[in-house]
Amino acid sequence: MFEEQGMEKSIISDSVKAVYKTLLANSQVESGLSFLKNDNDYTTDEQIELTAIEAPTFFEEKRGLYYKEKLEALNIHNITIDEIGNVFGVRPGSGDGPKLVVCAHLDTVFPAGTDTKAKRMNGKIYAPGIADDGRGLAVVLTLIRALNHADIKTRGDLIIGATVGEEGLGDLRGVKSLFENRNDIDGFISIEPGSPQQITYLGTGSKRYSVTYKGPGGHSFGNFGTANPIHALGRAIANIASLETPANPKTTFNVGVISGGTSVNTISETGNMIIDIRSNSQDELVRLEEKLLTIINEAAKEENLRWNKSNEVTVDIKLVGDRPAGTQSPDAMIVQVAAAATVALGFEPILNDAISTDSNVPIHLGIPAVTLGGGGDAGGFHTLNEYYDSTDAHYGVQKIFLTILGLIGCEDTTESLLEKIANVRFLQN
Ligand SMILES: [Zn+2]
Repeated sequence: MFEEQGMEKSIISDSVKAVYKTLLANSQVESGLSFLKNDNDYTTDEQIELTAIEAPTFFEEKRGLYYKEKLEALNIHNITIDEIGNVFGVRPGSGDGPKLVVCAHLDTVFPAGTDTKAKRMNGKIYAPGIADDGRGLAVVLTLIRALNHADIKTRGDLIIGATVGEEGLGDLRGVKSLFENRNDIDGFISIEPGSPQQITYLGTGSKRYSVTYKGPGGHSFGNFGTANPIHALGRAIANIASLETPANPKTTFNVGVISGGTSVNTISETGNMIIDIRSNSQDELVRLEEKLLTIINEAAKEENLRWNKSNEVTVDIKLVGDRPAGTQSPDAMIVQVAAAATVALGFEPILNDAISTDSNVPIHLGIPAVTLGGGGDAGGFHTLNEYYDSTDAHYGVQKIFLTILGLIGCEDTTESLLEKIANVRFLQN
């Protein structure tokens, strides 16, 4: 199959190009960019230090507290840790500009007790979580250092810090809570491992269900004729497997785990499956979800009907994951700005296919958002062999630095390209 990875292009308007021409000619911006290059090794050390503090999803507190200290040392204002553990503060702008969130995520997929201390081998640094999202956390800090070092006063406020619960069953709880608690955010950048070229501007939505069929059970021979939860499960899976979904917007389904039963000659009392459905369109996701739920309920009925029972097998359906899908135009201002920042460093921007990141939530809410790569080379994500290579990693940070300046503007130098939409949105709600 032909993959459309990176086929979309962002057209950068002349007004955006003009802003970048001004920014690149500015000596403070130049000073910030060269600071970031020189800070690359220090940033890597800080990345290793943060990664060593374990932070499984739902248990980010220790790393969060340490991160708060880091932000305090960089003179970030009003730092708070909210009730679920998000750590955010403000680097105030000069006044009436837009508010931009810049963040990475504190949590990792690794359970407590995983050795996350870094080991250097063949020019690479190995540690679970070193890239995802140790890199993002360190990038946030070096960005602040660069802005402080170059004495740059932005027009808009930077709301800067880190979220919890980005991974797995965390279900984006950190970023969801951020947007439930504030309505003054005009734009959003999340930082994940990745090359400076990449711009993620679409969010894949997903829903996950744990489905359990239940019945009285019995002996396979003696109680033959009892409705069977595993057979109901089989009926459901056969029909799910036959579902048709669109290739574009990409929409998928997967029964990933099944369990139940105790022995070969026992009619089981339970049959369980865990299902993941995904789509780049919220409408398609909802459509698929409706079909799925119908199939799941029908399978119980069919199994009961087969044995002339009315309600012997029942089904318990539990939603265990819910990440909203979101789309933006490739020509949205925030995408243009990130693309212009990429071009300014001599790279060709690549607009990624949708993935699932913290940006899903703002994109879904209609708030401009992108996920940008923090630079360097990385691989083995979510495995114990995760690695990071810091060679030329500063390009990733420089690109984010320039994106921020384009979006919220520099006092006395450029206007902010990000629109102040939060107040308007607030009135509409
Ligand atoms: Zn991540």
